[in-house]
Amino acid sequence: MKNEQVLLARRPRGSVEEDDFRIVETEVPPLREGQLLARVHYLSLDPYMRGRMEESKSYAAPQPLGEVMIGGTVAEVIESKNPEFKPGDFVVGMGGWQQFQVTGAGLRKIDIRAIPASAYLGCVGMPGVTAWYGLTQIGKPKQGETVVVSAAAGAVGSVVGQLAKLRGCRAVGIAGGKAKCELVTGEFGFDACIDYKADSFKADFKAATGNGIDIVFENVGGTTFDAALARMNAFGRIALCGLIAGYNGQPIPIQNVRSLLVNRLLIQGFIVAEHMEVWPQALAELAQHVAAKRIRYRETVAQGLSSAPRAFIGMLKGENVGKQLVKLV
Ligand code: NDP
Repeated sequence: MKNEQVLLARRPRGSVEEDDFRIVETEVPPLREGQLLARVHYLSLDPYMRGRMEESKSYAAPQPLGEVMIGGTVAEVIESKNPEFKPGDFVVGMGGWQQFQVTGAGLRKIDIRAIPASAYLGCVGMPGVTAWYGLTQIGKPKQGETVVVSAAAGAVGSVVGQLAKLRGCRAVGIAGGKAKCELVTGEFGFDACIDYKADSFKADFKAATGNGIDIVFENVGGTTFDAALARMNAFGRIALCGLIAGYNGQPIPIQNVRSLLVNRLLIQGFIVAEHMEVWPQALAELAQHVAAKRIRYRETVAQGLSSAPRAFIGMLKGENVGKQLVKLV
């Protein structure tokens, strides 16, 4: 049985290019006791993969050259020598950028009757838990507070604002372009969304945060983060989730450092995979909200494994709306 795979061919120099990847065809190995074979239906494309493509020191080991790109997947079991799984089961795991996954560990069975399979890679998966963790465990929102989130039309950001609204907060998003901002306020129900690409960004942002900011959920870094720092209320909290503005090696300077001191701010970086103890609680809450349509989501779906490199590059540039996925089946 043939397996199409996407390997990391070379480490990017600045922006990621399609030639940084190589598509190969290999044989699916025979199953050993305890293993199963699963056909990948959806592959998740996430900004953290950009960091793994680098060799520099980080919280996780680099993606090895010449190996299948790391990635979250939803897959269907088609053969099993593991008593916990049977053909027809759907599982979430780290199957990587390939058509078939052979594994014996690291899988979670999912129920795709009430919630579509793809959502387990988005708002009812790692990005959803990221939103939940940063907002509830670091932001600790109180009714009536103002929460600002950057990359608000994306997988994590869209959930942050909706969870904040469900906790009685005012949610202000920052996103690139008018269309994304309309989606954030219209479909996701934020109170306001500011287009960071507009010339009027600073004035618009000030108007949308008239009572100051109590919580920042930071996904981007750079000018938008600086703008938020300048509007913080005393004892505000900052959940530092991502700095995508610097993932290609660009500097991400901060001018308004003084705000940290004068407003006695708390800033906490976090990596969601280091907080597995909260995942069951977070996933249960997210699943309830999604099934009841209290949390809405969007997906950008590329077709076929060979489209993954192009879709990944596009996602890093903001071409996605909501969760970026690749559909393989
Ligand atoms: P998104 O779905 O939000 O996609 C990335 C978005 O980032 C793009 O759509 C784009 O939106 C925005 N963006 C890219 N470059 C810039 C830039 N220079 N300035 C402003 N915005 C930019 O991705 P995710 O929701 O999956 O991830 C969001 C953030 O959360 C990332 O920083 C990611 O690394 C981080 N993350 C952190 C985790 C953790 O454990 N700490 C776990 C998961 C994600 P736009 O068009 O609005 O510019």
